[in-house]
Amino acid sequence: MEAKKIRSTFIEFFQSKQHQYVPSSPIVVKNDPTLMFTNAGMNQFKDAFLGNEVAKYPRVANSQKCLRVSGKHNDLEEVGVDTYHHTMFEMLGNWSFGDYFKKEAIEWAWELLTDVYQLPKDRLYVSVFQGDEGDKLAMDQEAYDLWKSIVPEDRIIMGSKKDNFWEMGDTGPCGPCSEIHVDLRSDAERGEIAGRDLVNNDHPQVIEIWNLVFMQFNRLSDGSLKELPAKHVDTGMGFERLVRAIQMKSSNYDTDLFGPFIQALEKKSGKTYGQNEPNDIAFRVIVDHIRAISFTIADGQIPSNNKAGYVIRRILRRAVRYGYTFLGFQQPFLYELTPLIADYFGDIFPEVRAQQEFIAKVIQEEETSFLRTLDNGLKMLESIKAELNAKNQKVIPGKTAFELYDTYGFPLDLTSLIARENGFSVDEKGFAEEMEKQKTRSRAASESETGDWVFVHEDTGVEFIGYDFTETHSQIIKYRTITDKKGDRYQLVLDRTPFYAESGGQVGDTGWLISDSEKIRVIDTKKENDLIVHFVEKLPTNPEKRFSAEVDREKRTLTMNNHTATHLLQSALREVLGDHIQQRGSLVNENLLRFDFSHFGKMSEEEIARVEEIVNAKVRENIPLVEQRNVPIEEAKKMGATALFGEKYGDFVRVITFDKDFSVELCGGTHVPATAQIGLFKITSEGSISAGVRRVEAITSKAAEEYLREQEALVKEILELLKNPRDVKKAIESLIQERNDLKKEIETLHLEKAAGVKSELLKQFVEKEGVQILISQVELPNADSLKKLAYELKNEVSPALVVLAAKIEDKPQLAVILEESLIASKGWNAGQIVRDLAREIQGGGGGQPFFATAGGKDLSGLEKAVAKAKAMFL
Ligand code: ATP
Ligand code: MG
Repeated sequence: MEAKKIRSTFIEFFQSKQHQYVPSSPIVVKNDPTLMFTNAGMNQFKDAFLGNEVAKYPRVANSQKCLRVSGKHNDLEEVGVDTYHHTMFEMLGNWSFGDYFKKEAIEWAWELLTDVYQLPKDRLYVSVFQGDEGDKLAMDQEAYDLWKSIVPEDRIIMGSKKDNFWEMGDTGPCGPCSEIHVDLRSDAERGEIAGRDLVNNDHPQVIEIWNLVFMQFNRLSDGSLKELPAKHVDTGMGFERLVRAIQMKSSNYDTDLFGPFIQALEKKSGKTYGQNEPNDIAFRVIVDHIRAISFTIADGQIPSNNKAGYVIRRILRRAVRYGYTFLGFQQPFLYELTPLIADYFGDIFPEVRAQQEFIAKVIQEEETSFLRTLDNGLKMLESIKAELNAKNQKVIPGKTAFELYDTYGFPLDLTSLIARENGFSVDEKGFAEEMEKQKTRSRAASESETGDWVFVHEDTGVEFIGYDFTETHSQIIKYRTITDKKGDRYQLVLDRTPFYAESGGQVGDTGWLISDSEKIRVIDTKKENDLIVHFVEKLPTNPEKRFSAEVDREKRTLTMNNHTATHLLQSALREVLGDHIQQRGSLVNENLLRFDFSHFGKMSEEEIARVEEIVNAKVRENIPLVEQRNVPIEEAKKMGATALFGEKYGDFVRVITFDKDFSVELCGGTHVPATAQIGLFKITSEGSISAGVRRVEAITSKAAEEYLREQEALVKEILELLKNPRDVKKAIESLIQERNDLKKEIETLHLEKAAGVKSELLKQFVEKEGVQILISQVELPNADSLKKLAYELKNEVSPALVVLAAKIEDKPQLAVILEESLIASKGWNAGQIVRDLAREIQGGGGGQPFFATAGGKDLSGLEKAVAKAKAMFL
């Protein structure tokens, strides 16, 4: 069965059991401080499990794009080395939200695998939670009995808390699980050792394919478990592993999911897969990583220097490095695989097809710059080796290796490899220590502790009224304490709130909670999944009391101006630059707006002016806001609403329109009632932030007004400095002209002065033992003229020794020059002489045997230096 068919069969099977199919959520996670990337199918349902939200459907099936390269699940170092862990993989899942439980989950899993997919029953093993004393939990008898009725007992394996008890995090929903493992070894091997002995033992042919999690507890922060009121099923099956099992292959990479990529790479590299292990690892790393990179870029995460962007950058670099070292790719090559990704996944994940060109461009640019880094690193290593050779050492210190890694992006294994090839080794222990030190530093900086929610009032759901009101009466449902370096802060959830939580680029509202006895400042509002969380530095003395919750209106209004202006800007950019403009990120606060978009090439001054003109014309038109809430997503798309890649939209969306022929966007932000409120729109900067992505920053209303005022004040000041000329431009031009003329004049004067000094000095030469000697103190404009003078004096008489002690811009300098023949005949050395004399001016210097200079600190020493020289030579 082909991979595509295997995927659709999974979905259809569960649809036939009344499951609703839901699309994958983006791979890049927003609004969840605990997670950068989706690492399991359950992430998008977290709110339903936490009880923050009622699940939309009681039964769901899906295929979720997952990435396991950071945090709790990090398989990166395994990927490519083994044949069944990927960075990006699809997780097939079926879900019950308070609906069916263990019985159906187990029976359907078995039916699908053995009846529908026809996996041989004698290759499958299942595991059951054996219980845990620490948690006072008995074994999962219910699951055991259910399995016993369908599989022989010797295929059931008891598993420990580590393998068979699933937890969402340190706290939160959790429960026992049953895993299904498949044994893909040959019959001969299976005859020798029983599969059950190899389950959960990292055997590459005996692997877990499906995990059925039965969520029935909530873990509190004191570590205790509380039974959940509603029980859920969460299952996750690795699609790539399933395909491999059905296609009976010994590696995920031998399935039709990876075949075309391997073949493309064979063609490009001229090497064959399956002939030598190090090269094979490189093949696997590359065909795996290109998927992860393409999917994350498609969902809006561009490689960068921090956080999620840095994780992607590291994955990309790992692929480039393997290609460079093992497959001989010295030029960018990864980006050429993106058309295959688009072809192969475009049907189920349309975002990779729609953005193929952009993805390719971003990857190519990253590759180019990393290959340059590699090159620089190699040169660095060369000089390190030379240095060590000089000291007769053969070990590259850990600190040096770490510096290469940290500053130049040069990974340890590559440093080690090159070191080995050159008869060196690396102090890997020292490297690990440096790494640990850095981790400790960053951990200490970011460590924080989150307490349990304390419930104050019954949770009847949170009502957000911030689109219509900026003030309301409300009460606290729950709060918790966050402790970090800065001390304690609190997070509050209100039953009704006018506070907009940071999202879609718009900052969170600030404001106050006011009761008759106190006024508490809300310093920020953020979303945690779909929960609106208010941050305060002080807890109300009496949290049960009702409050008036008031948004800082001034800040909100200015922010709204900027948000609406961002929409107008996006449409204006499309008009001026073309339809390829896609939003790549935005920031909207009370001071400015920032809009990142895909576009190759700098915007010209005319284009910028044109965009400003269009936006300001729309502002003057005073277009009223048309806000539609709860529009079915399909209908919104028909309206031509601009949507963002990588954004998670529900079935119903909010559509913001300012002139239906100009700006229609899916947006959750707050907007002006009519555009004239924006007042004035002014672009303040335009530039590139990465390959194919430009950033425009702009200001509106009050900030734009201030900007104009500042500009005007600046012009006024300039005018005053210039004594209010009639024509400013001309005045500045003539100022520049005057300055240039003066510069020339000064140069001529310097030359004349030097000539005068020179003719004066020429008279002072004294002959001693056949040598013409001049020792004198002079004043000169710069070091260059000193050098020039010394050379000229030497050339006038022969054989000459000239010692000049000069005051140059209030600093002492010495120059010694001598006829080259004197080096041998007299044993003189200008460098030596100048160093001797420099002591008198508290300085040092050097040069060649015939010419040397020195600088110093003590101006009063010049005379002493002259006296000393005279004593030495006259
Ligand atoms: P393993 O022990 O093999 O790493 P896991 O215990 O981490 O697996 P789960 O977290 O239970 O796996 O995820 C559910 C399923 O997702 C697994 O049964 C497996 O089929 C698949 N899976 C997990 N990690 C990966 C990965 N890195 N690449 C491909 N599939 C994976
Ligand atoms: Mg794992």
